[in-house]
Amino acid sequence: IIICGPPAGGKGTQCELIAQTYGVVHISTGDLLREETRKGTTLGKQAGTFMASGALVPDALMTQLVAARLKEDDVVAKGWLLDGFPRTRNQALNLQEMGILPSAVLVLEVPDEVVQNRIEGRRTDPATGKVYHLTFNPPPAGDAELLKRLEQRKDDTREAMVTRLATYNKNVTDILSFYT
Ligand code: AMP
Repeated sequence: IIICGPPAGGKGTQCELIAQTYGVVHISTGDLLREETRKGTTLGKQAGTFMASGALVPDALMTQLVAARLKEDDVVAKGWLLDGFPRTRNQALNLQEMGILPSAVLVLEVPDEVVQNRIEGRRTDPATGKVYHLTFNPPPAGDAELLKRLEQRKDDTREAMVTRLATYNKNVTDILSFYT
């Protein structure tokens, strides 16, 4: 399954439900990349600069990352839910050339102003990976430790968001026309 949606469009939440319901492995390329950056790998360093500005990481790097993950045993056994890939027509073509075609492509449609509000209030707990929103899904008020360690993603700024949203809107059309 491939899932497309704007940044902060609710992909994470839907992916959790889909993975639970169908037993497939949720592969988020954003999460894979953040893990590489955190570990300080060569790929992580190369990708980090693009990510911080909200730009797309080059297709060749992305395809290498995804191809490796799709070959791992859990994914081969259970099937996959790709979240954040393909993001360009070229990435979809690369998948097809590897003989990989999805059974379904899901698209989440969310108005730009909703995305904007969600992004600005989004905070992550680095200890658990849990995502909160300061207004719509606030962290428990009494937990001072949690409140202190909450982080805002580097690319969840208004500036980076404008780039990410414009790129998404441009690319989703290409991806849909590729699969329909
Ligand atoms: P996400 O968590 O899906 O919003 O991804 C965070 C950032 O990782 C994006 O803004 C891009 O810089 C990069 N990224 C994730 N997936 C891809 C992809 N398929 N192609 C290019 N860049 C990607």
